[in-house]
Amino acid sequence: MNSDAHTGGHTARRRFGQNFLTAPGIVSRIVEAIQARPGESVVEIGPGLGALTQPLIERLGHLHVIEIDRDLIARLREKYNSGCLTIHEGDALKFDFGVLCAGENPSLRVVGNLPYNISTPLLFHLAGFASRLRDGHFMLQKEVVMRMVAAPGTVEYGRLSVMLQYHFQMERLFDVPPGAFHPAPKVTSSIVRMTPLPAGTYAAHDEARFARIVAAAFAQRRKTLRNTLRGFLDGIALEALGFDPSLRGERLSVADFVTIANAL
Ligand code: SAM
Repeated sequence: MNSDAHTGGHTARRRFGQNFLTAPGIVSRIVEAIQARPGESVVEIGPGLGALTQPLIERLGHLHVIEIDRDLIARLREKYNSGCLTIHEGDALKFDFGVLCAGENPSLRVVGNLPYNISTPLLFHLAGFASRLRDGHFMLQKEVVMRMVAAPGTVEYGRLSVMLQYHFQMERLFDVPPGAFHPAPKVTSSIVRMTPLPAGTYAAHDEARFARIVAAAFAQRRKTLRNTLRGFLDGIALEALGFDPSLRGERLSVADFVTIANAL
């Protein structure tokens, strides 16, 4: 628990992953990276005390936010009128981002200094809306961002990399040290940009099956594909598809996983 002048008297709640940005230079860099333009449809996850909210409203004219903490919602309501800020009270994990996606073109932009305790499920939730998003800019623990952007064959490459790279092109923009927040987290953070891939870049016929195969391939990282994928296909079938069954899952690209899933 932390309450002092840095947070205007608000007690930072650990259960909501509250680490508030307090470094103006970092806020500027993030807002610059987002390049928000007036009239765009943007939603911020977890506005908190408004470090990013304020400069985004200045650029956009209007912003949507999703916040779970009632004390922070009350503060936001006091500070902003509904003409410039629409507050969606509740859990971003359950939020239907589809309601903010108007028209045919993918237009919704999502931003947020994400609560570290729900960052992975939140990314999976957002992936379900990928075809309707224009992009996402997020602050996350650096270790998580390294896994999101990882290439096959590296130690960071795993289920998170494959499942997100199936939908998005991923770019790590820059790192943010613990001292930029109050209270300071224990670890370094990074900013990542996620841009949905053009429709059909990867086309798993059955995305649920694709997800099950990826999960199985990485459930026991040290085991070979012959072992981890045993429940789906045998070594001979893998060879017929052009894969060496003695390899580990970390050697397969997103396209390789799609090939396997579509062959079943
Ligand atoms: N954007 C602010 C900043 O950069 O200073 C606050 C970032 S803080 C790391 C995370 C924010 O997400 C907090 O405001 C927290 O209350 C909010 N939050 C936590 N869990 C949430 C959830 N499930 N849904 C929506 N907001 C959540």
